[in-house]
Amino acid sequence: MKLSKRIQQVEQSATLAASQKARDLKAQGADVISLTIGESDFNTPDYITNAASEAVLNHLGNHYTPTNGLPELRQAIVDAHQRLDDVSYDINEVFVGSGAKNVLFDVFQVLVDPGDEVILPVPYWVSFSEQIKMAEGTPVYVNGNPDKLYKISVNDLEEAYTENTVALLINSPSNPTGAAYTKEEMTAIGNWAVENDVVIIADEIYSRLVYNGTSANSFASLSPAIKEQTIIINGISKAYAMTGWRIGYALGDQEVIAALTKHASQSTGNPTGISQYAAMTAYNDETDEVENMRQSFENRLNKAFDLITSVPGFKLSDKPHGAFYLFPDVSEAAEMTGFDSVDDFNLALIEEAHVVTVVGSSFGVPECLRFSYAVDEATFAEGIQRIKDFIEEKKQ
Ligand code: PMP
Ligand code: GLU
Repeated sequence: MKLSKRIQQVEQSATLAASQKARDLKAQGADVISLTIGESDFNTPDYITNAASEAVLNHLGNHYTPTNGLPELRQAIVDAHQRLDDVSYDINEVFVGSGAKNVLFDVFQVLVDPGDEVILPVPYWVSFSEQIKMAEGTPVYVNGNPDKLYKISVNDLEEAYTENTVALLINSPSNPTGAAYTKEEMTAIGNWAVENDVVIIADEIYSRLVYNGTSANSFASLSPAIKEQTIIINGISKAYAMTGWRIGYALGDQEVIAALTKHASQSTGNPTGISQYAAMTAYNDETDEVENMRQSFENRLNKAFDLITSVPGFKLSDKPHGAFYLFPDVSEAAEMTGFDSVDDFNLALIEEAHVVTVVGSSFGVPECLRFSYAVDEATFAEGIQRIKDFIEEKKQ
């Protein structure tokens, strides 16, 4: 059958492909260590699953809900942002969709016309570039500073800006680098966007997962003008270990929220009913289980950082501030073991050491590999030991 040009020009998600590769190898009996997927390995906390079970037994969420999400959930989201970021939104400024990934897809669909440019800092999460292309927009790649965990500056934005620029995507803390922008850095970027009338699409999905004293700042909290210029993307997946429930949301300008609702009225209809009840509980009745998970990730980061930086030929400019990824430059390790590229080095790691990560080329930086440390410490340590043994064996 003929496939559309639209789908043919889109890359398969490399993060999902890598984790599937690890699953396939495991199914074939290989002893594989997967440091691929960016999702919490913790169970969804009991206070959420218990409430969701009760909601199911009470036949809640059995029917279509409002397209933009239940008003009680939108209120819970508004309250959470007031509590955590000290920002006020009206429930008409909230659109709830089927996961942040799907909400982002919708945001590009409603903001971007063919030929419009969206500034995208490199490295970028694999779905940003493809979703912009699916909206027939042009991603304008801006290289971040490798000495600052690849963060970008206003100077970089100045260089990338053209009369076709409509939006700028900032993902802080970042997938894949784990870098979080400071309040000063964000304010400078935010003011630049206001001055140039560029919409900030702020993917803050990792905002609750920050470590070692990093404060998570939301673009919405910087100034009223920056808040007005920004569409915030967030959701329950990461902080509440709820990736499978598929609830994410956008916050911002009412006209954009209404457009997202119109778009969803012709696509998904509404996000899953029962998941909305679960999400409501996640926000309204939070227990210390959520903070305990954050602390575990902090401990894991501190150990994983020491391990990664002890691998010969692996370079990392700084300890990441958030999320659950490490994105070292491994080009020296590839070179000293006789591989022409990091992609080839990665293939050999999979085939011979049975350690699966995600190649940096899919995030726009071919010198790097992305390691997820959302696995138990022993598994991560074993993965690194295998890589060290592999390098020792192949060293030329
Ligand atoms: N944004 C970023 C940067 C991510 O890493 C992810 C991970 N899946 C998402 C958005 C989407 O999250 P979800 O669809 O699970 O809400
Ligand atoms: N965002 C996570 C990751 O980067 C989950 C997979 C995906 O949706 O890309 O691994």
